[in-house]
Amino acid sequence: MPFTPHGKHLIAGEWIASGETFESAPANGLAHRFSVGTVELVDRAVRAAEAAFETYAHSSRQDRAVFLETIADEIEARGAEITEIGTQESGLPAARLEGERGRTAGQLRLFAAHIRKGDYLDRRYGAALPERQPLPRPELVMVQRPIGPVAVFGASNFPLAFSTAGGDTAAALAAGCPVVVRGHSAHPGTGEIVAEAIKAAVEKCGMPTGVFSLIQGGDNSVGQALVQHPLIKAVGFTGSLAGGRALFDLCAARPEPIPFFGELGSVNPMFLMPQAAEARGPEIGRGWAGSLTMGAGQFCTNPGIAVVIDGKEADAFVAAAAEALAQVEAQVMLTDGIAGAFCDGRERIAQSGAVRPVTVGIAEGRAAAPALFETSAAEFGENPLLHQEVFGPLGLVVRATSADEVMDIARGLEGQLTVTLHMDDGDTEAAQALLPVLERKAGRLLVNGFPTGVEVADAMVHGGPYPASTNFGATSVGTLSIRRFLRPVCYQNMPAALLPEDARG
Ligand code: NAP
Repeated sequence: MPFTPHGKHLIAGEWIASGETFESAPANGLAHRFSVGTVELVDRAVRAAEAAFETYAHSSRQDRAVFLETIADEIEARGAEITEIGTQESGLPAARLEGERGRTAGQLRLFAAHIRKGDYLDRRYGAALPERQPLPRPELVMVQRPIGPVAVFGASNFPLAFSTAGGDTAAALAAGCPVVVRGHSAHPGTGEIVAEAIKAAVEKCGMPTGVFSLIQGGDNSVGQALVQHPLIKAVGFTGSLAGGRALFDLCAARPEPIPFFGELGSVNPMFLMPQAAEARGPEIGRGWAGSLTMGAGQFCTNPGIAVVIDGKEADAFVAAAAEALAQVEAQVMLTDGIAGAFCDGRERIAQSGAVRPVTVGIAEGRAAAPALFETSAAEFGENPLLHQEVFGPLGLVVRATSADEVMDIARGLEGQLTVTLHMDDGDTEAAQALLPVLERKAGRLLVNGFPTGVEVADAMVHGGPYPASTNFGATSVGTLSIRRFLRPVCYQNMPAALLPEDARG
């Protein structure tokens, strides 16, 4: 049976309609009507989350682990319907939705295993020293505790893995924090069916109903009310720099400022070192074209900039990339707005007077065709516009005249999610010189690969200095991401009977 959304919000275990409705805008298939989010619903959901917090924060890690695993099972049980509505709403191919579903379920199970192990609690103990002179030392027990209700905003380009039950929700629930999701307007039906899976898991596991709510749609006032609600203690956001910055500023301006963990856009520069460019420039160029156009270029890790030393190796790299890009057909984008923003961004670059077009495809409506431009290191250094993300299949080659210019480019970069080096053994010395500069710029540094594709693992960092993220100490992917929703608490001379279970272990 195909899934037909009923279009309601999920507030503390109940499906609720709110008078006004909006129509979804799927890439293909039927549009459906959804209730519009309101500030009043935000308040209800957050109050329910707060009411659930004290119970949920003190639930055992084993119970939370089973809850996370049950969410994964319930998502998988709805796999075919999720893929169907997800492909309709996003225009992404079925294989992509299936892969993302596996990643989403795998992420929930990884967090279950992680909290069972308990290392994340970072327990520290200082024994009492009653005889110490001149003063005795008290007994100190430190453990990480959940921070409180968390607001989550998903991104349009990952309707599963960075959305309703995505990494932020999984990490917060694993930590012991109830979650209120502001559903992304680009995939409300996918959000609804995933919320249904979470609701089923809440019921099966006997969790307090306020532990999860989903509010659909509504204008920016809904998201703004959510981050400003006094009972919300942290925000996980994946999306654009503009949206993330607006919400970050609101969090900072609250009477009680709260952490806003925004994972934002990035241009993910690649540096082609001379030996690698000489040995396999065309091969790297073809690989780059594949990475740039994967998913219509709609990845936050899309490597939008390639830096190469000018010469015949650079020419061969660019020619191979251009040839491969010219063969990629136009692909449908996630929303009309994103397709429009891609066209606008491409035109801004084309009209900047600082670039030369190499290949620029034509596409109509909600589709995007690849575009490749070139510029010089000098132009790149002088034009902040060329450093900005154009979300979609657009690449910019920056030709430097020397290793010193490459270093200048590296030094001038803003914060990035990733930076990639393509290098051979003969490039080691030059790479060693660049690395201390690049290390300051990105959350993940890669050699001889492409950054699209982010492993969900203990050692992953998906974040980086601003503007890649709003919090350089955090990652939104991998088990370390749980730390965003915890805070250390020290218990001094506390009888064991009063310590939380996690502090006793
Ligand atoms: P977006 O337009 O910023 O939307 C993200 C969510 O925030 C949506 O629910 C949106 O509401 C809401 N929102 C945006 N601005 C708001 C404001 N001023 N007030 C209240 N709510 C606001 O981002 P997107 O287009 O979905 O995602 C694409 C972007 O995300 C790209 O830039 C991409 O690089 C980035 N991204 C980053 C990562 C990462 O891990 N760093 C991963 C994926 C994507 P509506 O639903 O009403 O639009």
